[in-house]
Amino acid sequence: MPRSPSDGDEANRISASRFLARPRLQELIDALRGRGYRVIAPVPRDGAVVYAEVESADALPRGLRESQAPGRYRLEAATGDRVFDVVNGPGALKPFFFAPRETLLQVRTDAAGFEASETLPETPPTAFLGVRACDLAALGVQDRIFRRGRFPDAWYEARRRDVLVVAVNCVRSAATCFCTSFGTGPEAREGHDLVLTEQEDGFVARSGTPAGAEVLDGLSLPPAGAERVEAEHGALVACAEGMERGIDTEGFPELLYARLEHPRWAETGERCLSCGNCTAVCPTCFCHDESDEPALDGSGAVRVREWDSCFDRDHAQVHGLNFRPHIAHRYRQWLVHKLGAWIDQFGESGCVGCGRCITWCPVGIDITEEVAALRTEAP
Ligand code: SF4
Ligand code: SF4
Repeated sequence: MPRSPSDGDEANRISASRFLARPRLQELIDALRGRGYRVIAPVPRDGAVVYAEVESADALPRGLRESQAPGRYRLEAATGDRVFDVVNGPGALKPFFFAPRETLLQVRTDAAGFEASETLPETPPTAFLGVRACDLAALGVQDRIFRRGRFPDAWYEARRRDVLVVAVNCVRSAATCFCTSFGTGPEAREGHDLVLTEQEDGFVARSGTPAGAEVLDGLSLPPAGAERVEAEHGALVACAEGMERGIDTEGFPELLYARLEHPRWAETGERCLSCGNCTAVCPTCFCHDESDEPALDGSGAVRVREWDSCFDRDHAQVHGLNFRPHIAHRYRQWLVHKLGAWIDQFGESGCVGCGRCITWCPVGIDITEEVAALRTEAP
């Protein structure tokens, strides 16, 4: 459901808002580290922005912004010293909780028999700084799958347990963003402990939980004042209204089920390389494979879980039969699950409109264009 930035209760918003001058951002990082958190934030690396551990605000992408288009991502110099103008990079929070590869079980054998033990990860308390609203929504989607399903995932839970999130509201969007189609941005409304909105000389800051309030109170920040809060609201409205892409979700999932034989699938199947980039960068995709790897000396084995992709031919291989032999079948499976069957399965969309699958598709297949084409009746 589309949404625009909330007016909220204006008086409450103003009274709850503090101002963090940009030179004091280091104090926030120090406060988080002082409470025992490692701090993970966006940093420029190898031509993109990725999440990595930081000790200093100098590591953030200061004076940079990115340009994104189907199949294209570039970091570019910007004027000024804003630190959160780069909207997002290829990596979301997903790998921090749902590891790309991990050992689930270890089996040791000896003359007396065998012993199996779980190998749960030991993860330090972690504060994420600079999380966008779409990625917060994606975290909520993954939480529903891994934490609140019938079979909670102990490995995900071990990493997710002791986490504090400092969100950043988006005041600019990438050309590939369409979060307003799903009501997931550009403003972070839930799931964060603290939220910042960057302005020319600093940040409007608010807490979302008692843990966030404790951090904020410890910084003894001055009130942001009505003028800054009004400017913040104006910037969020402008960001939402300026979003270039969108998906009309009216009638989902039934409309997608009614288009399973649409000729567009075959056309897109001709372009798609079946590389799986879109599923790797997607913050909600959760398909994985499990395999047993025996030690060569016979001393035991490990059970390993690795990310998998519905674009992988073997993903649909069952007992000598492949039920998605053509790329068009795999693209259809991905899109119809993401935007349609996910709603039946989990009660919400599997897409949060982050736009990563558009940017990082090597041939520039654009999910918003695909849906627009599928909405038309087949000739
Ligand atoms: S399907 Fe694409 S736009 Fe939607 S959440 Fe996944 S990567 Fe983002
Ligand atoms: S849609 Fe693009 S990113 Fe996804 S599998 Fe096909 S070519 Fe790769």
